[in-house]
Amino acid sequence: MASFTLQGIPVSRGITIGRAHLLRPAAMDVKHYLVAQEQVEAEVVRLQKAIAQVQLELQTIWSDLPTDAPTELGAFLDVHALILSDPMVSEAPLDIIRTRHYNAEWALVTQVDVLSAQFDEIEDEYLRERKADIQQVAERVLKVLTGTADQLPHVIGVDERNANMIVVAKDISPADMMQFRDVAFTGFVTDEGGPNSHTAIVSRSLGIPAVVGLGNASHLIVQDDWLIIDSDAGVVIVAPSPLVIAQYRDRQAALLKARKKLHKLKKTPAVSLDGIEVSLLANIELPEDAHAAMESGASGVGLFRSEFLFMGRTGVETQLPSEEEQFLAYRQAVQTMKGKPVTIRTLDVGADKPLDHNDHNILNPALGLRAIRYCLKEPQIFLTQLRAILRASAFGSVHILIPMIAHAFEIDQSLAMIQQAKDELRAEGIAFDDAVPVGAMIEIPAAALSLPMFVKRLDFLSIGTNDLIQYTLAIDRADHEVAHLYNDTHPAILQLLDMTVSAANKANIPVAICGGMAGDIKLTRLLIAMGFRELSMPSALLPEIKQEILNSNIAQLEPIAKKILRTYDPRLVQEMLRGMQGQQFT
Ligand code: PEP
Ligand code: MG
Repeated sequence: MASFTLQGIPVSRGITIGRAHLLRPAAMDVKHYLVAQEQVEAEVVRLQKAIAQVQLELQTIWSDLPTDAPTELGAFLDVHALILSDPMVSEAPLDIIRTRHYNAEWALVTQVDVLSAQFDEIEDEYLRERKADIQQVAERVLKVLTGTADQLPHVIGVDERNANMIVVAKDISPADMMQFRDVAFTGFVTDEGGPNSHTAIVSRSLGIPAVVGLGNASHLIVQDDWLIIDSDAGVVIVAPSPLVIAQYRDRQAALLKARKKLHKLKKTPAVSLDGIEVSLLANIELPEDAHAAMESGASGVGLFRSEFLFMGRTGVETQLPSEEEQFLAYRQAVQTMKGKPVTIRTLDVGADKPLDHNDHNILNPALGLRAIRYCLKEPQIFLTQLRAILRASAFGSVHILIPMIAHAFEIDQSLAMIQQAKDELRAEGIAFDDAVPVGAMIEIPAAALSLPMFVKRLDFLSIGTNDLIQYTLAIDRADHEVAHLYNDTHPAILQLLDMTVSAANKANIPVAICGGMAGDIKLTRLLIAMGFRELSMPSALLPEIKQEILNSNIAQLEPIAKKILRTYDPRLVQEMLRGMQGQQFT
């Protein structure tokens, strides 16, 4: 068979080589038949039982989640459980059986088609992703109905023959991803999914090579084909020649060796060849992630995305976390970091991180009631969180970071709320650090364009490049249709970064980057040459960024950074970036 290459969206790191394991094609292609009048109730019961079994399955997966499972996964499972208990999914098909006498599978697919069509009309990316979730849930029910549930991916790969299995699928639900964890699969490729799709997020958390958004890979790839995934390049090589396999095996071995070597740098500070120290911090989602941060050698937590404590809550936990629960979580992170600073970002819900499935601005979620806007509208929730954070500040070094700020009144009100929380705690005789620094995320262009307003009132800044890019370039960061426009070296973005670092330096306050750009090794030299001295990223990326800094001479890189900032030709920018990355210093 001739070899060919597919290009998709890279979502994680590394190389893997193995044989294709195709997931069964979508189970939506079902038998259609009419049931006799006297069989109708039995058919209704058959569907009800299948739905109940899937509910149970989801609960089991939930309760079996290992403690090191990606933090987002529980939230995804909850979404699926919620969908399954929604009457539009669990009851409407029963009516179809009763009124139209369709068999259970047909009734379910009919209803899913109706819902999908409605979702298509709304043209909202968040809801489009929920449409995929509905289909995944329906497929689970269909597998139970058709008796093919035991062909779910989790039963494959348990023997040696599948030791190097690469899963190929149209899409993979987060629940199925989790079941893959325990078997020997080394990568996956999917037709669908954008850089921020569920599968992408989970693969990054698991550190598994993956490429998504490949179009029709699941049709082009045949069961047991040899595949190479080069996830850094977003490339899948199908049926590679033995020579190409040998070359990639060498690259893979070199990567592995390099990773082991990097681990030895854990305790080495990130100091450039010309003696400038850059502080490398970790991004965490839950307090237990602080262990990985410590293990990576991070000099602190630069971004604790506290909203993950509020999302995906089930059973008795469906209420928002209490002050005490939050305090314990923040304190756990602070204590794990053993005196290193922990920057806790206040609740950033809304947009693609809704608190629950109803809580969502249908028209334009990314521009809606998100982050600080939500908190100021719900002062009691905000106050509770601020009290919990302040209480944790008595146990180490805590910084408070406010997301999505754009207006002066938002700064004033946030500071007033912090003051109120302090006054209350003081009156109650509860300990806290009165000097806890308060900073703002710079992630709305308006903020980057009105920095004097921020630097005067706040103790530090942290740039959220993910949102800064989204809002500056007017592209939804979760929409794969516009993923090609997500350009982190667009002159507008580089200018905004430059303005922010200059303003912060002038005002003598620290500025960090905590968005995705901070963990992109292709940009490290540019960022440090632009003057950034604090970068916060997923723990797994930290060692290689440190290595890059150790091998850089910042003074010698500065003139090239200046040139890049003056260049408006994207090809030239890329050329200079590559030149920078390859530069050797004596
Ligand atoms: C960002 O916007 O870059 C950021 C760090 O925050 P989040 O990705 O959580 O929006
Ligand atoms: Mg953000």
